[in-house]
Amino acid sequence: MGSLGKSDPNLDDEFNPLDPEEFRKQAYQTIDFIADYYKNIDSYPVLSQVEPGYLRARLPESAPYRSEPFETILKDVNRDIIPGMTHWLSPNFFAYFPATVSTAAFLGEMMCTAFNSVGFNWLAAPASTELELVVMDWLAQLLQLPKSFMHSGTGGGVLQGTTSEAILCTLVAARDRVLETIGDEKIAKLVVYGSDQTHSTLAKACKVAGILPRNTRLIPTTKHENFSLSSAQLRSAIEADVANGLVPIYLCGTVGTTSSNAVDPLDQLADVASDFGMWFHVDAAYAGSACICPEFRHFLNGVERANSLSLSPHKWLLTYLDCCCLWLKEPASIIKVLSTDPEYLKNKPSELNSVVDYKDWQIGFGRRFRALRLWFVLRSYGVAKLQIHIRSDVEMAKMFEEYVRSDPRFEIVVPREFALVCFRLTAIHNSDSLELLNPKLLNWVNTSGRMYMTHTVIGGTYILRFAVGSTLTMEGHVSAAWHLIKEGADKLLRENN
Ligand SMILES: *Cc1c(COP(=O)(O)O)cnc(C)c1O
Repeated sequence: MGSLGKSDPNLDDEFNPLDPEEFRKQAYQTIDFIADYYKNIDSYPVLSQVEPGYLRARLPESAPYRSEPFETILKDVNRDIIPGMTHWLSPNFFAYFPATVSTAAFLGEMMCTAFNSVGFNWLAAPASTELELVVMDWLAQLLQLPKSFMHSGTGGGVLQGTTSEAILCTLVAARDRVLETIGDEKIAKLVVYGSDQTHSTLAKACKVAGILPRNTRLIPTTKHENFSLSSAQLRSAIEADVANGLVPIYLCGTVGTTSSNAVDPLDQLADVASDFGMWFHVDAAYAGSACICPEFRHFLNGVERANSLSLSPHKWLLTYLDCCCLWLKEPASIIKVLSTDPEYLKNKPSELNSVVDYKDWQIGFGRRFRALRLWFVLRSYGVAKLQIHIRSDVEMAKMFEEYVRSDPRFEIVVPREFALVCFRLTAIHNSDSLELLNPKLLNWVNTSGRMYMTHTVIGGTYILRFAVGSTLTMEGHVSAAWHLIKEGADKLLRENN
């Protein structure tokens, strides 16, 4: 690119966008910047306090014509970007499910980016493909999955970006498997099942896959059953559909629902799925990671009878976004639907069927070397430390749960299974209803900037969710959060009485 700037004497005539020495210098600066960010992250308001549109007002109207110094760009990250961040890595972040991260995953990600390997098939990225085969089997072993989900057995795993892709891929496999026998024109008869607690991505996947919205059945759950999917109710819904000439094709069970961490009864659901010849997928996006600890493994009992399982290590296994593991018993069923065979990719190993071409296991074509991240994490920490990590989050959640139980003004709304505590303020007072008081309390703690948590509504009840899991969180942050919540409650109850 040496001659690019020649016509303009003010531009450098040497331009190498990947100059190794410049890379070294700027990358060191960036690492220092990031390390300082992690070190000082406690000092920022967790929930960003900016107004919508704040950034456009601060930035120039168009991109610069000439290059700007790297130092200036970094300075602007501090000045313009950081204030607009909701700090997911803050130790005071207890919202949604926190995204756990680690040095090992970060460095694995750097390596992945460094190679920029585009691993659509084996030949384009042998190491990327083969490392993925290995780590998917390693992780399957950690979860005590049967050989039928492993590459070394009769199945196999693949890394997807998110659960949404995992569900969509398995859903189209289930759809086409049935349409092949009943005929494409019957697509309007296909029905998909989950519960009203199933992640909203199931309904979205149904839309994308051409399942009619009226044929997406989300079975209502009750507090009585801790918001898990009742197999009896599911069975009657399916029977009614079948009586109406509809065709059940896919069931999504969840281990650790997003709202309240409900665990669906996998064994019973597997019975129903097999009675009706449905594809049974298990979504364990968050809670699945806990199952690397023997004491949590029972939550996955029954998974051996499922067709597929997805789990997102970016949620709870110290791995940066995005990383969702999908294991399949019959990879051939999704390859059949998703494979493509253009002339420009023809190659010996693929033609001999001797390799895995991961482009046929996913929606997209190009793919990153994500397995490096997991490999770095598994090796740097070992199973022992990963188990310690899960257990310590659960212990902190237990501690918070005890705080809530010790204060008669609060209640635990559903039993805690993992590191999410669902609770609410129930104190008696005059002017406000409970349904107004809890949102007020949430708003008060979040606008303080000192912590961030979120809410849900289940069974018609507004609930506060306190999810422990940010990598930097320590016991002191949990107790400080509880003190802040109590302070908010004191204040609101004083105002109300
Ligand atoms: C978070 C979550 C999802 C979405 O997961 P991503 O992999 O982050 O897209 C799906 N299902 C459940 C149960 C979840 O908690």
